[in-house]
Amino acid sequence: MKACPNKEKNLASCPCTYPGCDKKGICCKCLRFHLSRKELPACCFSSSTEKTYNRSIAKFVQDQKR
Ligand code: SF4
Repeated sequence: MKACPNKEKNLASCPCTYPGCDKKGICCKCLRFHLSRKELPACCFSSSTEKTYNRSIAKFVQDQKR
């Protein structure tokens, strides 16, 4: 499979702090993975909520109300 041409650029602005993820910087894979689990990716959350690694829709809604 061809490497993502945007990976380096994406990594520069990726807020995800979860260590060791092979999808980091490959936004289409990241989004597909989380949507398949009824979740959202790290970039949808505030910095403090992102660090909880809870990517659920419920957590997203809670985060928006803060
Ligand atoms: S949001 Fe999830 S899939 Fe995306 S880089 Fe972070 S841990 Fe990986």
